[in-house]
Amino acid sequence: MEIQKRLSSCWQSFLACFKKPRRSAGDPVRQAARNPGPGDNAEPAAGGKSSAPAETAGDYYIALYDYSARTEEDLSFHAGDILEALDKSPGEWWFAQAASGLSASKQGYIPANYVAPVESINAEPWYFPETKRQDAEKMLLAGGNQHGAFLIRNCESQKGELSLSVVDSGRVKHYKLKKMDNGQYFVSKTRCFQTLKELVEHYSRQSDGLCVRLGEPCKKMEAPQTHGLSYNTVDQWEIDRNSIKLLRKLGAGQFGEVFEGIWNETTAVAVKTLKPGTMDPEDFLREAQIMKRLRHAKLIQLYAVCTMEEPIYIITELMKNGSLLEYLQKDNGKTLRISDQIEMAAQVASGMAFLELQNYIHRDLAARNVLVGENNICKIADFGLARVFMKENESVYEAKEGTKFPVKWTAPEAINDNKFSIKSDVWSFGILLYEIMTFGQMPYPAMSNYQVVQKIPQGYRMTCPPNCPKVMYDIMIDCWKEDEQDRPTFETLQWKLEDFFDMDVTSYDDASRY
Ligand code: ATP
Repeated sequence: MEIQKRLSSCWQSFLACFKKPRRSAGDPVRQAARNPGPGDNAEPAAGGKSSAPAETAGDYYIALYDYSARTEEDLSFHAGDILEALDKSPGEWWFAQAASGLSASKQGYIPANYVAPVESINAEPWYFPETKRQDAEKMLLAGGNQHGAFLIRNCESQKGELSLSVVDSGRVKHYKLKKMDNGQYFVSKTRCFQTLKELVEHYSRQSDGLCVRLGEPCKKMEAPQTHGLSYNTVDQWEIDRNSIKLLRKLGAGQFGEVFEGIWNETTAVAVKTLKPGTMDPEDFLREAQIMKRLRHAKLIQLYAVCTMEEPIYIITELMKNGSLLEYLQKDNGKTLRISDQIEMAAQVASGMAFLELQNYIHRDLAARNVLVGENNICKIADFGLARVFMKENESVYEAKEGTKFPVKWTAPEAINDNKFSIKSDVWSFGILLYEIMTFGQMPYPAMSNYQVVQKIPQGYRMTCPPNCPKVMYDIMIDCWKEDEQDRPTFETLQWKLEDFFDMDVTSYDDASRY
């Protein structure tokens, strides 16, 4: 059965067959309700009332995705199952009891980001709040969605506003959903609704001025990453090496090999094995503590480590399509279009904008350190490792003697004065843009590292690659400004790249002419 249908029908049938007694204020579930989780965002009706039944609001959650238990303490569930949160204090993993579905009455840990409070807006199958416009288009145009498929998301350009994205004859149209002072929603002022749900129900019955009648909600793509591998690896993340089985080699870098592996016989992971002696385990652990806290959709998540003996293992999420460099070279323009290239660049800029906000420096940003998953999803890898490999007090020239020092990606002030900053990352990002636009060509193709080090301070810069739009080349040139303060921020780079996709929102009146 489709996830969306399961989601809507399950709560109704659950309510019908399960009469819940009123709980006392001191019981654990009430306490859990006072400690709201990530999805606890009930859609308030006009006047501020939640539409959930008062006596159950906050206690019960609906599963948005399937989850298969990874440890004996976990609880398996299917999208649409109802789960009662018994203890939310662990934070990102909750202790819960299944109130419906195959695991009914069983208890165990669940990833909190896989569930939403029943009857809250987050439980609606069409609500994709954090989805950007271009991601909405990609998801709606992906296989499985038909004419009329739709979703509602936060509007990127105007904070606090919502947009409706809908498929019309193979194209995605976007409408602004406006809110009146009294809290009612509308697409056209001629018809207002108390809740988004009512708005959706209305336009699902008739197009009434929209380009198309709303059909099925957009299919949900992959389930989100869990925080850590399980509830007990979130804080204590040194794991038993025997819980990891290496399955096949994915590649090798200068510091070791990377394998596809399986953790606890249940969970696919990537395992980076570090050549003995490449780094001091203490240095690595210190850095890894920071890396672990850096969680963002465009950064590879560090799950766990094995540092008790060599080789050190770094366990991360597995990315199906390997490094961006290999991905670009393999494609070489066969399937990737300019819009895909720009979109991948925008994803990297978004991950880097997050690091910028955290005052964190990558130091080795390059296409080989970006990994690609399904649907061209890009995530930045190896952030922080460069600091451990290239010790702060080590002269850059010594480091450069290592054959793989990324001279062609490194800003001049970092090469010459060891001055690494977010602005040297911006320089590297400009080189990464060059790699993206040339399908993985080596930068400065006809030049040696030595020539690059000589010529950059004299003002030499690469020319615009063939078939690269001038606006993209202008961004590269901005990233390669000699004075690092003149280079853009990643925040600016992100919106500039995302802006390539921003078209005017379809107006209701225009739509009525379709
Ligand atoms: P260097 O060590 O010089 O930075 P590198 O970044 O290519 O080079 P690794 O990070 O060791 O080296 O990765 C080697 C290869 O392993 C990558 O090119 C990629 O194909 C694969 N790989 C690395 N991490 C993952 C992952 N999380 N998921 C899938 N494949 C991966």
